[in-house]
Amino acid sequence: MGNISKLPLVQLQGVSKVFGKNSSELIALNNINLTINDTEFIALCGPSGSGKSTLLNIIAGIDLSTSGMVYLLGNLINTISDEKVSKLRAENIGFIFQFFNLLPVLSVFDNVYYPLMLNGMSKRQAKDQVMDIIENVGLIKHYKRVPNELSGGQQQRVAIARALVKQPKIVIADEPTGNLDTKTGQEIIDLLLAMNQKNKTSFIISTHSESLKNQALRVVEIQDGKINNETV
Ligand code: ADP
Ligand code: MG
Repeated sequence: MGNISKLPLVQLQGVSKVFGKNSSELIALNNINLTINDTEFIALCGPSGSGKSTLLNIIAGIDLSTSGMVYLLGNLINTISDEKVSKLRAENIGFIFQFFNLLPVLSVFDNVYYPLMLNGMSKRQAKDQVMDIIENVGLIKHYKRVPNELSGGQQQRVAIARALVKQPKIVIADEPTGNLDTKTGQEIIDLLLAMNQKNKTSFIISTHSESLKNQALRVVEIQDGKINNETV
């Protein structure tokens, strides 16, 4: 095993995020240290407003930290160009959101194909790859439908397929079961766990779900912008 394979996917050192200025300053993240390696399944827990989304956005390079170091696959993202950050993100990170964020006029197939289209891949080239992942999330019968012809749980499955279609090293999910009933939420958790096993993709998932917390391999608790208790 060479050292390269041991390079963490994500490494945060002393990361803080401050919103606003002077009297209205809000410390959203306070001196966060966090390392994410290959094939992890991490539940990021904490009350509303504790900093979960801010932390995920910083890991994704969508938002920049106010201080501290953020490494994505060994690249210090505070110091590289926006283009390079975008490229690293596009090649290595998949996203899943609470409200699915699907494109309403596109079919299931086209929503999942979308990230590959942005890469310049033709539909014909992408077809097998797209249909494979649609099958993996259990939607093969529905690939021609548009999002509003699907249930919430099915829409989240589309979003999971879209996040995984480029085989990213890490998937960031921000409250993926937050808009689903308990049973549907559990089905989504089971699917995420299965995808973690099958694809060896790392997941970091912010959640209020006790079930997800119990099934995660690692739990990161955040409160008032600080990580206060890690259970492995
Ligand atoms: P969570 O996802 O855990 O609910 P957030 O990361 O969204 O928490 O928010 C953490 C804190 O930062 C909250 O107090 C929130 O109001 C604040 N915050 C988040 N984003 C912004 C922003 N763009 N501008 C100002 N304050 C923000
Ligand atoms: Mg949030």
